Amino acid sequence: MTVPLVDPHGRTVRDLRISVTDRCNFRCTYCMPEEGMQWMAREEILTFEEIERVARVCVERFGFTSLRLTGGEPTVRAHLPVLVEKLAALGADLALTTNGSTLALVAADLRRAGLDRINISCDSLRRDRFLAITKRDRLEAVLEGIDAALATGFSPVKVNVVLQRGVNDDELIDFARFGREKGVGIRFIEWMPLDAQQAWQRAIVVPSEEVLEVLDREFGIEALDQRGSQPAERYRYRDGRGEVGVIASVTRSFCSTCDRIRLTSDGQLRACLFATGEADLRSVLRAGGDDDALAAAIEAEVGTKWAGHDIGAVTFTRPARSMSQIGG
Ligand code: SAM
Ligand code: SF4
Repeated sequence: MTVPLVDPHGRTVRDLRISVTDRCNFRCTYCMPEEGMQWMAREEILTFEEIERVARVCVERFGFTSLRLTGGEPTVRAHLPVLVEKLAALGADLALTTNGSTLALVAADLRRAGLDRINISCDSLRRDRFLAITKRDRLEAVLEGIDAALATGFSPVKVNVVLQRGVNDDELIDFARFGREKGVGIRFIEWMPLDAQQAWQRAIVVPSEEVLEVLDREFGIEALDQRGSQPAERYRYRDGRGEVGVIASVTRSFCSTCDRIRLTSDGQLRACLFATGEADLRSVLRAGGDDDALAAAIEAEVGTKWAGHDIGAVTFTRPARSMSQIGG
């Protein structure tokens, strides 16, 4: 029997974000430092069987409907399609967020293994700028990855763009055109204070409101349905040429409808991106804990879910982990 997992603020939790590795082949400036990241040791990382057990308890006991694979960069984890196959068998909607740089090599295997959807991150369509942001000259590979996702039949394919003032905000319209031409949904994301270098400044965040004004002026857009528990606010182009979205994590926090929890690659369960505490599911798993013990630990952590984050307030505390270790 499934029993919905309801947090202290009345929100039903249904979405598990699973970071499958803390490693990454990129070094995006807004996410991790160019040098000096300390990767976790292999034995600290959950095995596929351990990840599957946590996901199974979430789906079978608590009725989770959504599993999202992320990282670090999930495609650098060896044999990712094997994990996808295990998780797809659970029957929840299964999606992947990737930087896309090796997607052309694995898209077909992931599809065959049962992956439902792909989100690809790309923050510039200009080669020199892409290199400056990611510290890798891999724009072409990412564009090939987007093409491969489309050719393999993933639908929808979404492209996530983190906008930063003075860095890539002048590419807003280029990205929108790119999305319209390719048939991919662009989602413009506000930069959050989760970069390992702690360089975040509010002045560099490009407010979603401004993005929507520019898009409306240039193309004409109208709001689609209410977003429910999804962080993206969705719009359609009035001429019928596709969709576009914004994720206003900073200026219009969507905490009040948050339905997700996060499992780090070393098996710590986080009730919020900005949580300062975690539940050590790896210890439960490795001490031979049964599904009841796992379920109890998950339930207890969901019981700590905050009403919302307080970015910008004096009380705001940055979590010790950076975005690359939490998974976005
Ligand atoms: N490596 C994969 C990727 O880049 O898509 C998955 C992990 S990444 C941490 C997940 C998402 O978080 C990406 O879309 C990335 O752009 C976004 N992201 C990373 N740091 C961020 C930050 N400080 N604020 C907002 N989004 C961020
Ligand atoms: Fe890697 Fe993704 Fe972070 Fe970029 S955003 S450094 S690709 S984990």
